[in-house]
Amino acid sequence: MKALIVGAGIAGLAASKFLTDIGWEVTIVEKARGPRTSGYMIDFAGSGYDAVERAGLLPRFIAKHHQIDAVEYVDTKGHTRSIIDYKLTRETMRGRLLALLRGDIEQILLDAQSKAVDIRYSMSVDEITDHGDSVEAVLTDGSRVTADLLIGADGIHSHVRGLVFGREENYLRYLGYHVSAFMFEDPAISADLRGGFKILTVPDRQFALYALDDGRLATFDAHKDASRERPAKPAARLREVYGDLGWHLPSVLDHADHCDDIYYDWIAQIEMDQWHKGRVVLVGDSAYAVSLLAGQGASMAIGGAFVLAQLLAKMPVPEALASFETRLHKEVLEKQASGRRTANWFVPPTEFHNKVRDVFLNATRLPGLSWLLRNFFAPSLKSVVRE
Ligand SMILES: Cc1cc2nc3c(=O)[nH]c(=O)nc-3n(C[C@H](O)[C@H](O)[C@H](O)COP(=O)(O)OP(=O)(O)OC[C@H]3O[C@@H](n4cnc5c(N)ncnc54)[C@H](O)[C@@H]3O)c2cc1C
Repeated sequence: MKALIVGAGIAGLAASKFLTDIGWEVTIVEKARGPRTSGYMIDFAGSGYDAVERAGLLPRFIAKHHQIDAVEYVDTKGHTRSIIDYKLTRETMRGRLLALLRGDIEQILLDAQSKAVDIRYSMSVDEITDHGDSVEAVLTDGSRVTADLLIGADGIHSHVRGLVFGREENYLRYLGYHVSAFMFEDPAISADLRGGFKILTVPDRQFALYALDDGRLATFDAHKDASRERPAKPAARLREVYGDLGWHLPSVLDHADHCDDIYYDWIAQIEMDQWHKGRVVLVGDSAYAVSLLAGQGASMAIGGAFVLAQLLAKMPVPEALASFETRLHKEVLEKQASGRRTANWFVPPTEFHNKVRDVFLNATRLPGLSWLLRNFFAPSLKSVVRE
């Protein structure tokens, strides 16, 4: 059996690994010129954690885990407002929570590929034709690939979804925020963070900085924005949004000016009743983006790819695709709803909301109250892989 996978992100590489494990031949096309190294810190638990454990990849994930003791919320002067005890959070999740850079997750999955996998960078699909028992794609270099299954793993703005299921606006729910992430080096900021993870939070805006052991710093920001315009110059937009704030932001914004691969997008979810049509199926953000607010997108991308491969190992393609949707749909809907509920918690709209969050987080560190943390993070352990 043969699969053509569009997108060599987390979902595409995971699908390739799990399909070759069950004996499929795989071709991947990826529009980027090579593997992506940039990224942001990802909390990894639940479905994805279970999948990589079942596939024997957990030791590689643990080796790339970043030890985080605490996540500290700070004010515009850098003074601590509240702290999430990350060590305690991991304990309440029985250790089944890892912190990894997105680029590291992709690299682990890339290293785990069979040598037989044909990965073509700077390549995409122009046309897809379903022949009933096979699918044919015309690639951007004019060549043709025929496969038993085409997997669209090309992210929230999926081109495959556009070609096969229709326009993005039919499926994308904008949540009202923009997100950015980039990496840079600044020894003075690294020294101040001392390997820590700090988040500056003011109403409608938050900017996170994480100091890596190798001297790099990883950022991510989330800010409210009613407009769905994506700025031509992300660094300039970040300066408009954060230029009035203190702490390390003046230096960080200077670094942004010199960074040529700032990730910048809307915070949004993808809502579809069906993720497959004939011999084409979507996996990961292209099918069911839950958003940064739900914090489970990478995990669901890997978990979903694992479940799909397990089903394809057991039954014919059409039945496997239908079962895949049935198996994941409820969990995806729950995660998406929880992401939307968490918005005011994640990016508090007023100083009052900010203070309520501070009180809650500081309470979780009091003796006997760690159950608050357990209840808060328990849904992250739910898994589509264990069912
Ligand atoms: C700041 C931030 C923090 C996050 N934190 C977490 C977290 O803590 N935990 C968690 O689990 N998730 C988190 N997520 C979500 C997670 O990163 C995504 O859900 C996950 O990366 C989705 O993977 P994917 O492979 O489906 O899509 P993507 O990562 O978008 O990969 C899609 C791939 O397809 C390629 N592509 C796109 N178009 C084409 C085309 N036309 N042809 C060929 N290739 C194409 C792209 O270049 C890319 O390589 C976070 C996201 C952000 C932005």
